[in-house]
Amino acid sequence: MDHKEFEQALCKKLGTTPDKATPQALHSAIGDTVMETIAPDWRASRQAHLSGRRACYFSMEFLVGRAVQNNLLCLDLYDTVEEALRPYGVSLSAMDEIPDAALGNGGLGRLAACFLDSASTLNLPLDGYGIRYRYGLFEQHFEDGFQKETADDWTRWGDPWSVRCEADAVEIRYAGQTVRAVPYDMPIIGCKTRHISTLRLWQAEPVHTFDFQLFNQQHYLEASAESIAAEDISRVLYPNDDTREGKLLRLKQEYFFSAASLADILRKYRASHDKYDDLAQAVSIQLNDTHPVISIPELIRLLMQDGVAFDKALSIAKQVFHYTNHTIMAEALEKWDCGLVEELLPEVYGVILQIHEALMAELYAKPDWTAEQITAMGIVRDGCVHMAHMAIYASAHTNGVAKIHTEILKHTALKDWYRLYPERFQNKTNGITQRRWFALCNRELSGLATELLGSDRWITQLDALEELVPYARDLQVLQRFTAIKQEKKRQLAAYVLAQEGVRIDPDTVFDIQIKRLHEYKRQLLNAFSILWIYFGIKDGSIQNFAPTTFLFGAKSAPGYRRAKGIIKYINEIARLVDGDPQVRDLIRVVFVHNYNVSYAEKLVAAADISEQISTAGTEASGTGNMKLMLNGAVTLGTLDGANIEIVEEAGGENNYIFGARVEELEKIMPDYSSRRLFADNEKIRRVVSTLIDGTVSDGGTGDFRELYYSLLDGASWHRPDHYYLLGDLESYVEAKLRAISDYRDRAEFAKKQWLNMCHAGKFSSDRTIRDYAADIWNITPVQ
Ligand SMILES: *Cc1c(COP(=O)(O)O)cnc(C)c1O
Repeated sequence: MDHKEFEQALCKKLGTTPDKATPQALHSAIGDTVMETIAPDWRASRQAHLSGRRACYFSMEFLVGRAVQNNLLCLDLYDTVEEALRPYGVSLSAMDEIPDAALGNGGLGRLAACFLDSASTLNLPLDGYGIRYRYGLFEQHFEDGFQKETADDWTRWGDPWSVRCEADAVEIRYAGQTVRAVPYDMPIIGCKTRHISTLRLWQAEPVHTFDFQLFNQQHYLEASAESIAAEDISRVLYPNDDTREGKLLRLKQEYFFSAASLADILRKYRASHDKYDDLAQAVSIQLNDTHPVISIPELIRLLMQDGVAFDKALSIAKQVFHYTNHTIMAEALEKWDCGLVEELLPEVYGVILQIHEALMAELYAKPDWTAEQITAMGIVRDGCVHMAHMAIYASAHTNGVAKIHTEILKHTALKDWYRLYPERFQNKTNGITQRRWFALCNRELSGLATELLGSDRWITQLDALEELVPYARDLQVLQRFTAIKQEKKRQLAAYVLAQEGVRIDPDTVFDIQIKRLHEYKRQLLNAFSILWIYFGIKDGSIQNFAPTTFLFGAKSAPGYRRAKGIIKYINEIARLVDGDPQVRDLIRVVFVHNYNVSYAEKLVAAADISEQISTAGTEASGTGNMKLMLNGAVTLGTLDGANIEIVEEAGGENNYIFGARVEELEKIMPDYSSRRLFADNEKIRRVVSTLIDGTVSDGGTGDFRELYYSLLDGASWHRPDHYYLLGDLESYVEAKLRAISDYRDRAEFAKKQWLNMCHAGKFSSDRTIRDYAADIWNITPVQ
């Protein structure tokens, strides 16, 4: 389609010209036009997926973000549409009004979205299955520096990118309730290919198996009471990064999409097979963390219902499923109260008990295992169902998401499981799609890469950026890089002014920390370092400080008191600094509100310094670190998660690494005393005391005092300073000051930034997905 044809199609759909339409109407018209255009290719891809071996990605979350610009880019229609709109003085930036599809919390959900994008681009037969939440992750705003949440009505202007598939609806049965699961399909458009995968998201609706007219008022009221409950199942995304909370409704959600997706897969399989013997040859299912693990007993139940014996059904499940672990934090390992599972899903619970018995039989047949070790590995233990244990036992592969994470799984967190099944464990270091996180979010820098390479082949082979390493010595290229970074900072500054009403200066260093708000991610450590610098400038111990803007973006789980306290604390520091004429030209702190995928696209492109400062051994991988690296930011970080591999690729000399390593922490933590550090180090005492000495106010909530005591005295459920903030603070400040000071030599610093971009090839999710396809799913391209 050329721009004239697109223009005509748009005007016809709009019934007017683009300049007279609202952004929402324009969005619908573009969406409808694209959906009509791609329909034949999408149909062909669906067919192709069913004609051979395929894989399915089961995930409770898909943080896809805004579709319109990305879809146009992947179809190579981006410039065409810009051209079609230009005569009317309209631009695709008008689409910034369209809400994101925020059907996920953070990294885990965004990973699922990047994986589908990569598989589609690689022509691999992978489809996604999840939940179509009526409300996605809450919208965040600040009132007096406190986070407030409102519902995210993401389809308020419609959703042209989904197709409701009434014919494929299935019924889901809980004890005492049956609901209908109706699929909505989203196209996942591959780049530079005509292949289109499908993201099938299920919506819960009441079952109308009766004729209302035949029922009296009494029955009618009962029916409508139940209909509310049915719709509740897909009403909201649980706004938690880890587990806890939700209980019954959460378990209903997990079973809802697991059972619906399996019914869908089996129906399609049965269309061409009369027995289940070849199911494992036809399909692989990847379980994104433990949330969909209830699929394992459900599949076994469905097969047994069709006459397959338990042992055989278990053996099929062990070949079909694969499990990705995303966390080593014990408190985040999912378990369910047996009573709850039995009450809601009695048949499934019966199958879980059988799986547990099979595991016990297998383990007790091994002479070298003690009863104590075996008990600890139970699927059913202490009145709970342990989802991770069921996942490892009844699947073919378990993978971690970065090298260090997989090593910790094998040798610490899951070491008995690794001893039992060493052949099942694999590493698959996470990745990000360069379509959204380079081509789309940084047309300027990716354009420069295309120009220098003589082609845009990096868009499907990110390794090609490696060929740009020699330009690190070319001052002209570095100058162009610097000018582009400057332009992206200017664009961000304009956006921040519009969104936050705060003016920031693109001529300062942009130091950025964006990710969910969590104690282990240590935004509080960042806050302390800013205060350290603030006091240092005031007392003259820090001189020649290069003016720096510290940007934060993060949502806290609504019930997570400490995380919310940290948001308030950072907002108060922003106010403190802003009100101080002595430092306000040197330090600026901005906490942007409602951080999401679309905001991330603007932030990553503008960053000079990428803050990746989790306590070593706590961040499984991280993917934000990769986005920032690819856009030419240096990493200021700990040796944790994928940071380790980032430094391996881009070089320690081009990044700023600080803090205790995992092996060191193992030795340090048993005798660690944050009180001792606090007493001995005046600077640490100075910054930590701001939590209680009146420097900043928590508005009388007691939140800051609670943070203070969590650091110095601990709480009933954790030791003091569990995440080692005080221990790492001094080396962190040293590394941070070095990075900010190095920035003054703009050419030298740009060289480091450039080299980070050049060495980001490994972190394409194309690499990750190729590895899953080859080592786990055993699938090959369809075209
Ligand atoms: C990439 C991304 C994340 C994950 O960030 P981490 O730094 O890896 O925790 C979270 N939220 C959004 C909106 C993202 O785009």
